Amino acid sequence: MAESSNALLKVSGGELYAPQPQGKQTLMVTGDRLARIGDDCNTGALPVDTLDASGCVVVPGFVDGLAHIIGGGGEGGFATRTPEMRTEDAIRGGVTTLMGALGTDAVTQTLPALLAKARALESDGLTCFCYTGSYQVPVRTVTGGVQDDIVLIDRFVGVGEVAISDHRSSHPSREELTRLAAEARVGGMLAGKAGIVFIHTGDAPSHFDPLLDVANHSAIPLTQFWPTHANRSAEVFSAAIDYARQGGLIDFTASTTPELIADGDVPCVEALPRALKAKVPLERITFTSDGHASLPRFDGEGRFVGLQVGQMTSLLDAVRDCVLEAGLALEEALTPVTANPARILKMPRKGRLEPGSDADLLVLEKDSLKLRHVVARGRVKMRDGEILHRGYFA
Ligand code: ZN
Repeated sequence: MAESSNALLKVSGGELYAPQPQGKQTLMVTGDRLARIGDDCNTGALPVDTLDASGCVVVPGFVDGLAHIIGGGGEGGFATRTPEMRTEDAIRGGVTTLMGALGTDAVTQTLPALLAKARALESDGLTCFCYTGSYQVPVRTVTGGVQDDIVLIDRFVGVGEVAISDHRSSHPSREELTRLAAEARVGGMLAGKAGIVFIHTGDAPSHFDPLLDVANHSAIPLTQFWPTHANRSAEVFSAAIDYARQGGLIDFTASTTPELIADGDVPCVEALPRALKAKVPLERITFTSDGHASLPRFDGEGRFVGLQVGQMTSLLDAVRDCVLEAGLALEEALTPVTANPARILKMPRKGRLEPGSDADLLVLEKDSLKLRHVVARGRVKMRDGEILHRGYFA
């Protein structure tokens, strides 16, 4: 079956979570936008494609703030560089908007390659933006400066993942982090973009202190930073709760493994309910997939002992587990992967389903939260569980 090419698409019979619950609604898509939400829509004689959502919930396509779209890794030598993401991987995970980033290796993985891949994902119908910069400071750039990259290159909306509190980081000073945040902030202002500084947080005892230090000694607000891996260990998680209570944003990595959990990783299914119970406001919490990252393990001396690869499907798994295992309301589980990242990334047409939004939506079976249909920018990319997208190399 080919991808839908009708200009009109009707999604009917499902319960809408926008992400707030809106009851049973019919959604009408024209082109790449959601045109109307209501009981029924008169389409006259125009040809209409229909997606049956009966017995299902209709939710916004996921917004993934961190995906290593060209691969990452390499912590165990060249053979441990992780493979590139494919469009199908994102569709299978319900991710319709994503942020590409470099990882530990910004020597053999480059920003031009990242931009080219983002363009490829865009032409496949996804929405893909990127972070300029790198783990290490001074960061890599295309034009020679972070501010110029964000102002002049349309795909760049922030800088990241800049590593702190990690043995793989360049241990940036307060002055370096402040300058970087200021460049990203002003670049974002000039270009009408988020200008966010996406932070890789390691497990060194300084945790989030470098970010608090910048906010306490400059005019940079704490929310200029968006630190990830806040659930990488019990210690980092408890520091993250404190950090969020002081006004910071925190991101939980959805990709994990049984080995990482045994080492202390707090999976999203535990992290979200515990953070909410600790009175962290839901709007400060996000999940990212860390898809196609390496998930390396190191021993107590920092020696590499093995690695697995982050999965684009981890966001959907995390949402499902939060609802079916932890008993959270669907809208609570959805907000960290839809409305929150879209707000932080200043993408007002993403992460919500209302008239005028981009037509990025998922239809999930109500009881199992299994993915049935995926629509990205108005195009049906999955129908009845079958991925319709076929890339050149599938
Ligand atoms: Zn990272």
